[in-house]
Amino acid sequence: HTLANAPMGDPLFTARQISRRFESPSLLFLPRRAGTLAVDAVSLTLRRAESVALVGPSGCGKSTLARIIVGLDRATDGTMQFDRTVYHGSDLPGALRPDISLVFQDPFGSFNPRLRIGASVSEPLRLLPDLDEAARRRRVADMVEAVGLSPDMLSRYPHQFSGGQRQRFAIARALVTRPRLVVLDEPVSALDVSVRGEVLALLHRLRADFGLTYLVISHDLDMVRALADRVLVMSAGRIVEEGRPAKLFEKPEHEQTRALLAARL
Ligand code: ADP
Ligand code: MG
Repeated sequence: HTLANAPMGDPLFTARQISRRFESPSLLFLPRRAGTLAVDAVSLTLRRAESVALVGPSGCGKSTLARIIVGLDRATDGTMQFDRTVYHGSDLPGALRPDISLVFQDPFGSFNPRLRIGASVSEPLRLLPDLDEAARRRRVADMVEAVGLSPDMLSRYPHQFSGGQRQRFAIARALVTRPRLVVLDEPVSALDVSVRGEVLALLHRLRADFGLTYLVISHDLDMVRALADRVLVMSAGRIVEEGRPAKLFEKPEHEQTRALLAARL
């Protein structure tokens, strides 16, 4: 954690020319290069404590890019850098896994219905084998309180909670290893409109409290405006425009950005 005390604005994470090709299943009849280039030579930098939104139409490659950044999928090309560690995009070093975490869209899908929620929230702590049992329990309780819930709820099961509560637990789980980069893939899309604002406010506060860097995928442009310092617009696997929300929303240059803005009306 060499850059832990570096000023905001230093690069925390960089992707260089990251690509991901999904091979077509019927290779017999198709040329070698058939398939989907879901992510096409994407380069991006996330600065320390920055909150960056990634927007773009369905199928443009946002989730694939998110999964590669957190190490759930492998790039077919390109390199990444976290702090001072440079690595191939297909190989997130184990030592970095506690530093980078993902919040999924659907908080129900991210919990095993047969496990008490406490077991799910503490599960990422397996990445920190040096913590003893008391420290683990304290870590989980602290994080559950940080998201506005009570530790005595931890013995209940996922179905016993509302969607908004489950998403709070999902956020607690994502933060339990004390990551520095949090990737959020449509974190409020599956929630009732009435609780979206609460979760958004929570994400805001956690970012400040823990000095987090966010990459937030969203097609809710109001959320983007509220949360993002900078916006990346993705289209067909590429980043086609980037800028501050105000600039991008008032003077969109790329047709994809204009289309996204038009779709909101
Ligand atoms: P988004 O999150 O922007 O909606 P995705 O990253 O989910 O987009 O998908 C990008 C493209 O990659 C789509 O064409 C999708 O069909 C394809 N894709 C995603 N995951 C897979 C997979 N596991 N196998 C094959 N194709 C996939
Ligand atoms: Mg997606």
